[in-house]
Amino acid sequence: MKAVVYEGPRSVSVKNVPDARIERPTDVLVRITTTNICGSDLHMYEGRTDFETGRTFGHENLGEVIEVGQGVDKIKVGEMVCLPFNVACGFCKNCERGYTNYCLTAQPDPHLAGAAYGFADMGPYQGGQAELLRVPWGDFNCLRLGEDARERQTDYVMLSDIFPTGYHATEMAGVRPGDSVAIMGAGPVGLMAAYSSVLKGAGKVMVVDRHADRLALAERIGCLPINDATENPVERILDETMGLGADRGCECVGYQAHDPQGNEHPDDTLNKLVRSVRFTGGIGVVGVFIPQDPGSPDPLEKQGKVALDYGMHWFKGQTMGSGQCPVKRYNRQLRDLVAAGKAKPSFVVSHELPLDEAPNGYEHFDRRDNGWTKVVLHPGAA
Ligand code: NAD
Ligand code: ZN
Repeated sequence: MKAVVYEGPRSVSVKNVPDARIERPTDVLVRITTTNICGSDLHMYEGRTDFETGRTFGHENLGEVIEVGQGVDKIKVGEMVCLPFNVACGFCKNCERGYTNYCLTAQPDPHLAGAAYGFADMGPYQGGQAELLRVPWGDFNCLRLGEDARERQTDYVMLSDIFPTGYHATEMAGVRPGDSVAIMGAGPVGLMAAYSSVLKGAGKVMVVDRHADRLALAERIGCLPINDATENPVERILDETMGLGADRGCECVGYQAHDPQGNEHPDDTLNKLVRSVRFTGGIGVVGVFIPQDPGSPDPLEKQGKVALDYGMHWFKGQTMGSGQCPVKRYNRQLRDLVAAGKAKPSFVVSHELPLDEAPNGYEHFDRRDNGWTKVVLHPGAA
């Protein structure tokens, strides 16, 4: 089968690799029809993780079930399914409590928790930027889609990661109707956090980035765009909230946060939220931070340390939640919002490309080129 293979920093190719297949009775085999490039892929693409060369990327996957193992009861051949990026067993101590983001069975390293398709340090699973994907514990992991799935794939595929992840940021931050919300990053994840805040009835949603095309999308869904290349975002957020600060903050950038000139400051967005969220406010951090980052220009960050303004965070009595999103906690309800026509997360999609054009898609999305807000790949027809 064809698959997007990591060749080394800023290099991917589309190659023939061995077909994914049923390996255990609980597996489901999916023919991928839609799979996205994610900001998380870019950390790996840029060589800023220990992702292995020769491995396949792709954790935002949707497709048609073409084979099921003998132990699969619910999922049937022919169904359209969307796969959470987390690979989870459903029966370990963490999955039982709903923390499918920290599954203990799917992660083979006993010192770690959590697994994902085509992801550094998250188990051996191949990615879905390929014609076929093996889905372990298929009954637990597959989210079945309705009749309209084939026509609305660019909406439903967002249930694999960024829509639940944006929603999770707002949950960890505690967004409730009427709240003011500050969001760092207008990438696909930041836009989904903004959209989730809007869906929850937030009073004012302020989104910070420096890319006009991404900020324009935030504005289109009713948010206030703040360009940090032309104004101080902390001052603006304080001005917009009578000097009190936003009720809630979402970090949707991660450890490669940088200034508009491109110099990395891994503490930038966290400290801006500490300063611009009110006393007792909540902060949800879904942007990725990692335990070590040898490729960082920042000596602290090389050891995975971030100069968090903890004194001010403590003084303000803020709370902070962090980590990978437990997609299964939200994907069913968000699917039903999409099915009911009440949510349309595909508004972030700028490009739909055949799998063969993945290298081009990676290059543009990695440069955050104007107009390249979210790239969707189609390995095969629906
Ligand atoms: P992206 O890289 O396309 O978007 C990040 C945006 O942040 C860009 O538009 C960039 O211009 C902006 N930015 C950079 N530095 C900034 C700063 N200092 N202030 C304000 N904005 C700044 O990627 P994405 O797909 O939106 O993903 C964002 C982050 O979320 C990544 O770290 C990704 O790995 C992570 N992520 C986490 C989860 C999870 O489960 N926790 C899931 C998906 C993605
Ligand atoms: Zn993703």
